[in-house]
Amino acid sequence: MTAAIDDTYLNDWSGTRYGTPVGLERPRTTDELASILREANQSRLPCAIQGGRTGVSGGASPSNHELIVSLERMNQIEEIDTASGIAIVGAGVVLENLQSEAEKLGWTFPIDLASRGTCQIGGNAATNAGGCRVIKYGTTRQSVLGLEAVLANGEVLGPPNRLLKNNAGYSLSSLFIGSEGTLGVIARLALRLVPVPPVRRTLLVALNETTNVADVLAAAKLSLRDALSAFEVMWEDFVEAAMALPGNERQLPSSFRGRRAVLIEVEGSDEASIESLLELYVTGQMEDGTLLDAVLSLSNQDAQDLWNVRDSVAELQAGMRPYVGFDIGVTPGKHDAVVTAAKIELLRSLPQCKSVFFGHVGDGNLHAVVGPCNSREERAEVDRIVYGQLPPLESSITAEHGVGRKRKPFLLKSRTQTELNAMKTLKSAMDPNNILNRGRIFDMP
Ligand SMILES: Cc1cc2nc3c(=O)[nH]c(=O)nc-3n(C[C@H](O)[C@H](O)[C@H](O)COP(=O)(O)OP(=O)(O)OC[C@H]3O[C@@H](n4cnc5c(N)ncnc54)[C@H](O)[C@@H]3O)c2cc1C
Repeated sequence: MTAAIDDTYLNDWSGTRYGTPVGLERPRTTDELASILREANQSRLPCAIQGGRTGVSGGASPSNHELIVSLERMNQIEEIDTASGIAIVGAGVVLENLQSEAEKLGWTFPIDLASRGTCQIGGNAATNAGGCRVIKYGTTRQSVLGLEAVLANGEVLGPPNRLLKNNAGYSLSSLFIGSEGTLGVIARLALRLVPVPPVRRTLLVALNETTNVADVLAAAKLSLRDALSAFEVMWEDFVEAAMALPGNERQLPSSFRGRRAVLIEVEGSDEASIESLLELYVTGQMEDGTLLDAVLSLSNQDAQDLWNVRDSVAELQAGMRPYVGFDIGVTPGKHDAVVTAAKIELLRSLPQCKSVFFGHVGDGNLHAVVGPCNSREERAEVDRIVYGQLPPLESSITAEHGVGRKRKPFLLKSRTQTELNAMKTLKSAMDPNNILNRGRIFDMP
């Protein structure tokens, strides 16, 4: 049976394989999904739940003897209700497909990730994905009105709530968002859409050496207000490495060399007001010496070129394999200090490894890639150094990617033992035979 399973189902984007599964199921409907889980539960067969496999925490990758349950065939956009701005979709709909179908009707789904062409809406909800526009639209949780989920025993909780306000008892949908497939399998969702913004402009700024990222963020929030839709920071090493990659679109002015850069995006309803807002902001920040230089997109292609600098991450990672990736959450104001301290210690302890720091700093989320790390000891040292910079219980070991298997050993840095016990109580109530994504997030006794 295993021989028939294509290799692509054996791991997620992190590339780590955990074992040989016993089979692959690809249901087309909630009923088919329910009957697969009912049978698996009766025979105590553990299941690995898979969306688009773009996750980087090892959650979707099967272990030995697991049954893969892929949602890829539950990919129907059932309805786009333009009167109320709601979409009803199957969990297997690819994010980009929903965005482009909704955009044809003047609406869009505001969650946006670089993995948009492959990740699925069900996977986005299961990981509570963030992405580049959380500062304006929130995480996936804020865009899900309700969902239909299949429990481990095959019972179906649904149909998805589509009311904006509904306080009739517990919000059961919320339980599944961010639970990484450990409490149930998301089958269908009711989503909030937003009107396509008529104007979007992107600005890339180089920071002065003494400028604090937190001050730039605060000024951007105050000046650009509701128009601010992305605030992405790239530290010096990232900018340098991205500019060294082939492709003219990454050729920034030489003033960006050796500097931290911030990509700022704004959205609005008319060009003139958005452009004058940006001009006021940039002029003010240049005059007080916060910014050294700025590049403004004048067309969609310019904007794409600026985003390409930020989206260079996949290529940068490829050149640093085997690497250790981080997805940490820290409170505003602490980013520069965390990055500086981690860089100093990494350089001292592991001078052979490169590191790049970047992230959705507008929502407190910092990413880092450190590599190549060829031995287990090197990887453990990198973890020790980076996680060692985080204030216990006031930071997150994963702001958006999820715990999966990779971050399981560090969970108690961000959660108390009491919180972990409550999670386990919930898990054993909802999945008493521990068949759903066993060993992800935490281990059950
Ligand atoms: C280039 C790149 C850029 C990325 N950028 C971002 C980013 O900016 N922000 C961000 O948050 N993430 C980002 N990611 C990570 C990833 O794309 C997200 O975590 C995404 O939400 C995963 O969706 P998926 O469908 O690929 O899920 P998978 O990888 O298949 O699964 C992820 C987890 O969800 C579970 N799961 C999947 N579908 C279901 C379902 N229907 N029901 C229950 N459980 C399910 C899986 O078991 C697994 O535990 C990025 C990844 C890549 C490769």
